[in-house]
Amino acid sequence: MTSFASLVREANLINGQWVAADSGETIDVTDPASGTTIATVPNAGQAETKRAIEAAHEAFPAYAGLTLSERVALMRKLHDAIQDNLEPMAQMLTAEQGKPLAEARAEVGSSAAYVLWFAEEARRTNGATIPSPIAGRKLMTTRHPVGVVAAITPWNFPSSMLARKLGPALAAGCTAVVKPATATPLSGLVWGHLAEECGFPSGVVNVLTGSARAIGGEITSNPKVRKITFTGSTEIGKQLLAEAAGTVKRMSMELGGNAPFIVFDDADLDKAVDGAIIAKFRNAGQTCICTNRLFVQAGIYDRFVAAFADRVASLKVAPGAEEGSEQGPLVDDAALSKIEELVADALAKGGDLVTGGSRHDRGGLFYQPTVIGNATVSMRVTDEEIFGPIAPVYRFDSEDEAIQAANDTNYGLASYAFTTDLGRAFRLQDRLEYGLIGINEVLIVAPEIPFGGLKESGLGKEGSWQGIDDYLETKYTCIGGL
Ligand code: ADP
Repeated sequence: MTSFASLVREANLINGQWVAADSGETIDVTDPASGTTIATVPNAGQAETKRAIEAAHEAFPAYAGLTLSERVALMRKLHDAIQDNLEPMAQMLTAEQGKPLAEARAEVGSSAAYVLWFAEEARRTNGATIPSPIAGRKLMTTRHPVGVVAAITPWNFPSSMLARKLGPALAAGCTAVVKPATATPLSGLVWGHLAEECGFPSGVVNVLTGSARAIGGEITSNPKVRKITFTGSTEIGKQLLAEAAGTVKRMSMELGGNAPFIVFDDADLDKAVDGAIIAKFRNAGQTCICTNRLFVQAGIYDRFVAAFADRVASLKVAPGAEEGSEQGPLVDDAALSKIEELVADALAKGGDLVTGGSRHDRGGLFYQPTVIGNATVSMRVTDEEIFGPIAPVYRFDSEDEAIQAANDTNYGLASYAFTTDLGRAFRLQDRLEYGLIGINEVLIVAPEIPFGGLKESGLGKEGSWQGIDDYLETKYTCIGGL
């Protein structure tokens, strides 16, 4: 018996019923630290998805018709349920995803915080009155939930990415069909269980696991789905945008990143090293806001690389559930092979292997935290999202050069810079083409802030006062003849 066994749901939630796939097929859920199977979940497809969408559609009018106080009360209960189950949910997350337990606890805690934030924001979904240019008329806007929302989430933050989507959807009065990533379905299914326990009516939250193509295909083509909210790769995001064009759905996209981390000569070296460790190695480098490219100015380059590599070499690589683990396993074999390819490519193109560079002695999916010095733009790591524990370090001379290199990508999600020059900090704010900018800080995400990318990193914002907007339609009404 694991500590989270009572939270494991090995079935899908459709219209308040926990059901198997129509085919009876299942998918194994494995612990990436050990390779052992910890649960099985249904391999659902198109027909189950259609039923889930139907259930959400049927449940919508009554749920949207709850009073604001009733909806907020349900949201607060959900927040409390997540808080009450924080420890087993974190252990479940580490077991299926691999991240260190401390990171899993932080993720589940932030999931609860998002739910509470959106419960509060629901009270501020104000409309407006508009001065009329014509006599005898009253003009106003009112805001209404968009309807059925489909949420497709990735494996790297299976809990908090859902919180950012279900939080505003449920707060706005929408109903939902959720498809968690196949590698980490338990942290998605548990939301169905908690929503049920908290008293959300049947059909308001439906959770499906299985074939991404079959489930995704029904979601994108079914006219009853009024909005899709997706976090994942830019490649799949573009595919969903194209597929959903046929039914003109509202789309929110949190896609890939290629975060620059710029260290200027005037930076506080210790703070820059601390920041680089977190920004690069959290979740073994498998986050869309993880540093992909470190740009270090010539005057501080040698000192930074030496201090950074020292810290990197001492990171504790261990299963996430082991005390003190700082870097867990990669998510699967494909991720490990990609990391090996990227390192081989960088070394073949003249990079210096400063530390790491091989699979870890622990075997399995563990890889050594790696620093590659003298990185150049011809390396694949310059343009590809690494999603693993490799830190390529590029040398630069001028501020202009660093900003241009940082912006030379189709992505625009997170960026970081370390400098003690206040003027430069504001120049960076103006010139970095990124949705998130951390100056002398790397832990910059919270429910209060608008998280979202520029360019091909996405559409829309999650969190903040903007996070609920995408789940609401604005209607304008003119009352004439007054
Ligand atoms: P990641 O690199 O995070 O795995 P993906 O974009 O491949 O990024 O996956 C993110 C989510 O999108 C997962 O839940 C995955 O199952 C889902 N997904 C992948 N392909 C499709 C598709 N064709 N239609 C709908 N969802 C998909």
